[in-house]
Amino acid sequence: MKCPVCGEDCVQYAHELIDGLNDVFAPCNHCEARTFNKNAPLTDTSVPPVCSCGKRFIDAVIAHVYIIMREEGALEDRAPLKSVGIPLVHPGFAMANPPYLPEKSLVLLSKSVTAPIARRLVEEIPEIRGVVKDRGVVPGLSDIDLDGLPDENELLAGCDVRANVFFTQEEPVVIYKQQSVMHIEFPRGYDPKVISVGVKIRHFQPTTFVDALSGAGKLGIIAAFLNVPHIIFNDAWYAAAYWTAYNVRVNKEHIDSDGINILYDYEEMKAHPVVTEPRKIAESAGGNQHIEVYQGDFRQLPAVLPPDVDLTALDLFEKRQRAKVKSVLDDWKQRVGGEVFIP
Ligand SMILES: [Zn+2]
Ligand SMILES: [Zn+2]
Repeated sequence: MKCPVCGEDCVQYAHELIDGLNDVFAPCNHCEARTFNKNAPLTDTSVPPVCSCGKRFIDAVIAHVYIIMREEGALEDRAPLKSVGIPLVHPGFAMANPPYLPEKSLVLLSKSVTAPIARRLVEEIPEIRGVVKDRGVVPGLSDIDLDGLPDENELLAGCDVRANVFFTQEEPVVIYKQQSVMHIEFPRGYDPKVISVGVKIRHFQPTTFVDALSGAGKLGIIAAFLNVPHIIFNDAWYAAAYWTAYNVRVNKEHIDSDGINILYDYEEMKAHPVVTEPRKIAESAGGNQHIEVYQGDFRQLPAVLPPDVDLTALDLFEKRQRAKVKSVLDDWKQRVGGEVFIP
């Protein structure tokens, strides 16, 4: 599939990615598992070789990053190995062992990189997919009042689109996102939100399910896997709304519709990063399941919702602010009706 960030064929349909999951990070008989102490400086500055199978142990790749960053003067003399940044593997999923990385399987988030260093990392280290400047922020919206412009990190080189795979009682769900503009998630074998949405849908058997703060679309896509006839997604943040629609396409094999039309391209959506009045940005074509994706403030979403919404997930950021959460839930019940839950 064409990637909206780099324009290359760097995105796979869910089944292609899942079919390769057992082998993607597995070593061959010749792969070397040399580990390095992350809390100490690297003393051996010879670049660890890539195995003949084309993979390298993650520690060796990080050591290679460290060597280049040291040469470029981006790290202090005694900087420990871990100071290169946060490695995010592609695809990310719950793993029993550390990975042997193939080409273009690592997005690096680093506080210490500059654009020229990032370009060098992408050019010289085959496993690197993209390098993101870590500004120390959580990208995207962080409160429902939509105050100010959300923070973003910055893609400096390569492509920072990567997938996480979440295992459910049904099919695994594959969720792509552009890492510089969406928050980091580390899939574990056990994901309480995934379980929660499955339990609610089996219990209430909704005909119309709303994923009102959809992020990259995980919960609503699970609802689609559970055969809910009508699913409405919404997020005010352009990247979240866009990747929700894109992920419906990625996971289409287990959704009974004839594909999804995304009505805006990524660049167009970037021009309106936060939208309050809901606008439809994607809709399924044909089939027995109807999927709609909106970009907007979820508190204005009731105006465009059909009358038969019978279950809503409100994945609020401010879960600990009890009074606020209660008033949001009460308001939703009154205006929309049906069951509502916080996953
Ligand atoms: Zn890409
Ligand atoms: Zn090997």
